[in-house]
Amino acid sequence: MPQTSPILTLKDVQYRWSGRAAFDLRIRALNLQPAETVLVLGESGSGKSTLLSLICGTILAQSGQVICAGQDIAALSASQRDKFRADHIGLIFQQFNLLPFASVQDNIALPLQFAKQRRERVGDMTAEAKRLCQDLGLPDEVLTARAGTLSVGQQQRVAAARALIGTPPLIIADEPTSALDAASQSTFLDLLFAQSQAHETTVMMVSHDARLSNQFDRVLHMSDICETARGAL
Ligand code: ADP
Ligand code: MG
Repeated sequence: MPQTSPILTLKDVQYRWSGRAAFDLRIRALNLQPAETVLVLGESGSGKSTLLSLICGTILAQSGQVICAGQDIAALSASQRDKFRADHIGLIFQQFNLLPFASVQDNIALPLQFAKQRRERVGDMTAEAKRLCQDLGLPDEVLTARAGTLSVGQQQRVAAARALIGTPPLIIADEPTSALDAASQSTFLDLLFAQSQAHETTVMMVSHDARLSNQFDRVLHMSDICETARGAL
C-alpha cells in the first residue's frame, strides 16, 4: 500500500443529470496517488466528462464526497471552488480551449491569473512559458504567435503547457489526443509525462481509445468504477 495520502478521493459519489436524457452516475470509490498516471477508458456517453466535472467541482455530487488535495470540494463556496480548481488542477480540454487571437505565451499564463498559489510558484511567467514550450518540443518562435495559427499538434502542446505551468498537483485531461494519429499521441504523452513526473504531478486522462493504455501506470474502465443508469430515473 502507498504511504502517502491520495491526491484525489471519491467516495460513494452520486450525480444525476435530469431531463429527457436523464443519466445517473455512481462511484463507490476512486483514489489517485501522487505522481501516478491513470487512464480511464469508457465509451462515448459513459459519463467520463461528468466524472471530470465532479472532480473539478464545476458540478457538485448530490451525495458522497470528492476530496482533492485534502479538501472536501463540497465544503467550498462556488467562488472558493473556482480558486481551488485554478490552484490545484491543470486542465487539458478535448478541444484545447485556447484563445485563438491571444499569443501562445499569454494562453500558457492564463490559469495563473486566477491561481495565486500557482502564480507564486512560477516567478517569471514568460521565462517559464518558454521553458515549457522548449521541453514540450515547441520552437521558441511560437511563443509570440497567435494560438489559432498553430497546427493541431502544436495547439495540444500549448494546452499541456497551460496545464503544467505553476505545477498543480493534479492534471486532468479529457480525450486530448483524439485529434492526433497514434504516433503523435504517443509522443505527446511521453512529453507530458516527462514534465508531470518531474514535479510528482498526478495525471488522469479519460478516453475511449485503449491504444494509449501501455503508457499509463494504471488503466481503469468506467464500467468497473461506475454504475450508471439512463432514462426516467
Ligand atoms: P462521455 O464524456 O463519456 O461521453 P458525458 O459525461 O458527457 O459522457 O455524458 C454522459 C451522459 O450524461 C449523457 O449521455 C447525457 O445523458 C448526460 N449529460 C451529460 N452532460 C449533460 C448536461 N450538460 N445536461 C444534461 N445531461 C447531460
Ligand atoms: Mg466527454
